[in-house]
Amino acid sequence: MTLCRSDSYDLVIVGAGMVGASLACILDRAILNKPLSILLVESAAIDLQAPPAQPSFDARSTVLSHGTATYLKTLGLWEDLELDAEPIRKIHVSDQGNFGAVRMDNEELDVDALGYVIENRLLGKMFNQALASMASLELCSAVSVSEIKPLATGMEVLLDKGDQQTRLITPLVVMAEGGRSGLCEKLGIHRDTESYQQEAVIANVAFTNSHEHVAYERFTPFGPLALLPLPDHEGQHRAALVWTRSDDEANLILELSEKDFLEQLKNEFGPRLGDFTKVGQRNSYPLNLVQAQEQVRPGLVLLGNVAHSLHPVAGQGFNLAFRDTMHLAALLVEATKSGTSLGDISLLHKYRDETESDQNMTSAFSHYMTRLFSTNNIAAVWVRKFGLFSIDLVLPLRKAFARRAMGLSDAQVKIEASV
Ligand SMILES: Cc1cc2nc3c(=O)[nH]c(=O)nc-3n(C[C@H](O)[C@H](O)[C@H](O)COP(=O)(O)OP(=O)(O)OC[C@H]3O[C@@H](n4cnc5c(N)ncnc54)[C@H](O)[C@@H]3O)c2cc1C
Repeated sequence: MTLCRSDSYDLVIVGAGMVGASLACILDRAILNKPLSILLVESAAIDLQAPPAQPSFDARSTVLSHGTATYLKTLGLWEDLELDAEPIRKIHVSDQGNFGAVRMDNEELDVDALGYVIENRLLGKMFNQALASMASLELCSAVSVSEIKPLATGMEVLLDKGDQQTRLITPLVVMAEGGRSGLCEKLGIHRDTESYQQEAVIANVAFTNSHEHVAYERFTPFGPLALLPLPDHEGQHRAALVWTRSDDEANLILELSEKDFLEQLKNEFGPRLGDFTKVGQRNSYPLNLVQAQEQVRPGLVLLGNVAHSLHPVAGQGFNLAFRDTMHLAALLVEATKSGTSLGDISLLHKYRDETESDQNMTSAFSHYMTRLFSTNNIAAVWVRKFGLFSIDLVLPLRKAFARRAMGLSDAQVKIEASV
């Protein structure tokens, strides 16, 4: 018995996390003269009746930028998220112990919301429902891609499930597998990795005062702490916490009793949200800056975390990957219409040319913000003090900071969508 229905596809996507699922959804909705045959392979088991089980859709929450939300609306995917997505109307960035602070609000930028916070498991539910309804897509779950081999034209892909294996061919493989599967190593693609020597502790927390749609980003001498507004639940005000600490301190925080955890959080964050009353499941993530040295080869594209992973301080990783995905999808649609092979290297080089500067700018913004705020070096402290102070006073600076922080400067790619 084979693991999939055919031995050849127009496109194989490896990984049905946020990025692989986004690409499948965008292509499914694009107007094409002939629908593409797409195989989406996911190593986790996807049961549409149960909560999403892929690592992308765990207990974290994601800030969707204004640009990402707008495009999800165009695709007809926003309706399923709208009720669960909490708009961010204000952002408050501050440096603990120093007088600088930046306040941004949606009215100043003339948008309904600066972004939206959504729990990843709800994003996963939306994506999985969308995938289930796609006629041109074959979803192969609980199956891993264990090898990708270049052929004279296109790629050979090996699917693996325990003692069962299936080989197939395709002109293009999009690797959206997050970077932990070992496929890059097998292909000889090196990924530059710089550890921040930090972990992000994440959890949902409840508190006594309303958050009033404010997202807080507080830089402390130990690392940044973000509280992102979530919808109230059973009468409780809630936020998604991202608490960055050194590896050792993060482990200590994970092990604190609930009472000590809530007390320590209040000590570090301050009284703006009143008392913290409850904390949900806590998890931690090691933080690295990762850049793949190659993102395209004939018949191959790396997309999402496998191509670049950023510090989550500015909530940019998925939003950046979503913009890359839109660019790639637009080029694949163009190629389908003109009869060009999807794996054509000049097409894939065009994709790199279109996305490189956004990737470099966004990575640099997240990286230098993290570095600047993670040191007690006296020069950096002064830059922080007067940087934040002057950004707050000078409107164009504040607007520029907000546009970059919330992905409002997103390059928009237009694809004719059939929704
Ligand atoms: C604490 C934290 C907070 C964050 N907050 C934000 C935020 O607010 N805003 C934002 O934009 N970004 C945020 N990010 C970044 C965002 O989570 C990532 O950019 C995003 O998850 C990347 O998704 P992905 O699909 O590329 O990879 P993944 O989420 O890793 O998904 C890869 C998928 O591929 C599957 N897979 C792996 N190997 C194989 C294989 N061999 N065969 C088949 N399938 C395979 C996996 O099971 C998985 O489902 C945050 C990250 C962290 C750590």
